[in-house]
Amino acid sequence: MSTLFEKIISREIPADIIYEDDICICFRDIEPQAPTHLLLVPKKVITGIGVAHSEDQKILGHLMITIAKIAEQQGFNSNGFRVIINHGIDGGQTVDHLHLHLLAGRALNWPPG
Ligand code: AMP
Repeated sequence: MSTLFEKIISREIPADIIYEDDICICFRDIEPQAPTHLLLVPKKVITGIGVAHSEDQKILGHLMITIAKIAEQQGFNSNGFRVIINHGIDGGQTVDHLHLHLLAGRALNWPPG
C-alpha cells in the first residue's frame, strides 16, 4: 500500500509542489503551522529517521542540502527558519514516510511543545 506522500509523488493526490528532483519532492503542508510550512520528502520510502540506515546516507545528505537551498531561494536565510523531523508517537509523527518540515515566516518558540 502506498503512503500518503507516495500518492503526492505520483500525483494521485494533489499538492502545492514547489520543488522536485530525482531524489525528493517539496510541497506545502496542508495544515501550516507558520506562514511558510513546507515538507521535503524522499521518493524512496524510509518510514522514519529512526530507521534510516547507512545505505540511506546519500539521500539524507541530499535532503539536508536541498532544504538549505529551498530556504535560501524562499528568502529565509536572513531571518532564519526551522527544520524538524518527527519520529514515532512521542515525536508526533503522523505519516510513516520520512519528511523534513521547514517552518519560516515568524519567530518560533523554544522549546517546542
Ligand atoms: P508529521 O506529523 O511529522 O508526520 O507530519 C505530517 C504532516 O503532513 C503534517 O504536518 C500534516 O499537516 C501534513 N499533511 C497531511 N496530509 C497532507 C496533504 N495531503 N498534503 C500536504 N500535507 C499533508
